[in-house]
Amino acid sequence: MVRRSVAVPLLFDGNSLADFLELERAYKLAKQTVLDYLVEGYKDRISYFRVWHEVKDLVKRYGLPFAYQQQAVKDAVETFNAWVETGGVRPTVRRAAPYADERAWRMEGQTAVSIRLMSRRITAELWPHRRFWRFEWLVITGRARRANTIRLKKTRNRVYAVFTYELTPEEGKKPLAITAFDVNENTVVVARIDLRKTVDKVAQWNRDKIIPPISLHVFRTDFGRLAKRYDVIRRSWAEELSIEINGRRIPGTTTREFRKRVKKLRERNRKRDRVNKVAHELTKEPAVLITEDLGEKPQEEMIQRKRDKEIRHRIKQMPMKAVLKKVEDKAKERGVRLVLVSSRKNSRICPIHGVEMTFPLGPKLGFCPRGHWIHRDVASVLNMLRKATDELKEYGEVVRKTLDALDEKTLEKWIALVMQTERPAVLARASPMTRPDSPLGRERAR
Ligand SMILES: [Zn+2]
Repeated sequence: MVRRSVAVPLLFDGNSLADFLELERAYKLAKQTVLDYLVEGYKDRISYFRVWHEVKDLVKRYGLPFAYQQQAVKDAVETFNAWVETGGVRPTVRRAAPYADERAWRMEGQTAVSIRLMSRRITAELWPHRRFWRFEWLVITGRARRANTIRLKKTRNRVYAVFTYELTPEEGKKPLAITAFDVNENTVVVARIDLRKTVDKVAQWNRDKIIPPISLHVFRTDFGRLAKRYDVIRRSWAEELSIEINGRRIPGTTTREFRKRVKKLRERNRKRDRVNKVAHELTKEPAVLITEDLGEKPQEEMIQRKRDKEIRHRIKQMPMKAVLKKVEDKAKERGVRLVLVSSRKNSRICPIHGVEMTFPLGPKLGFCPRGHWIHRDVASVLNMLRKATDELKEYGEVVRKTLDALDEKTLEKWIALVMQTERPAVLARASPMTRPDSPLGRERAR
């Protein structure tokens, strides 16, 4: 089951907002009180049903509507159980986002909700957006279920209703392509075998000489370049903001101003957007996707190999695992199959002849003893395809045939394609809106 959440702004007037703030405050106090009670009295995981009768009088005094009293207890039990599992400092409730179950809210048509707040029930207009409609449409067409409980969450001065949907994954469709992808520092390289013309002829593949077309695509992500640029900026700020007090140097990174500026960089958002985009591109057609099994901590392994301090930081920031996770998640939702193959020697062996290559011209270009060149990122995806043939069952044979039919001219064309895309471009800047006089812009001009 795939789960998705959507936060939709609620249009509250002043009175409703005040009423909500009352509710939020009481809910938070109730949750904290129960949490304290549990921490004092229990050592192991507990269930809501066991403690409800013990704590219901404690909770009552905050004047919460009954449905919220129960949710606050459930919320506290959840937090307590998580704390029991992970240990650590005694849990405190910093911010509470009240859960509203089916007694406390209902839809009013498609664009409003009726919600019970602290003192009364109100009708609040929703400010729906595309993502919300998309999931509502899935509900209408029976492909998703909306959870009965929503969450009311305040961020800055706006209150959101957070809806949760459980999606029924799409049925496994007949793949139109076999696609291997490899996430590199600044690019994602994709080798795609197009099955569209041959998809109905699977049974004949072994007899006929049908060889489906294979193509190479390179997405530019600039994860590495972006991380490097942000690193330079952060360092210059740390330098600029550090001060000396009584001969002691206070690093700039500990200042509020530094944290404020870093937040404004929105580095994480930008990375996430790119991760999402790549994952979307890879899963938008029914295909069998193939990639390397990255292991638990892919970056750590690479760091051990590469000593250089700067590279070390850059790789740490590289969201390789994030891309794989996102692809896995989207693939599940869209009924796309994902095959993981071993990452062993994928970029060092010739995918045509299966022999080890040498790299006389630097780390990128591999030379096969049989006398041809191949880019290591291309070798990687082709080797992934080859390694997957056993698992691909009825498609294995055609993948093998396609790889065997690859000629040197195609490989040369692909070298040019990868090299061209790898060259730094304007995309590496933080945002098109960056002013030339800001540290970001200054850095760019260097
Ligand atoms: Zn070769």
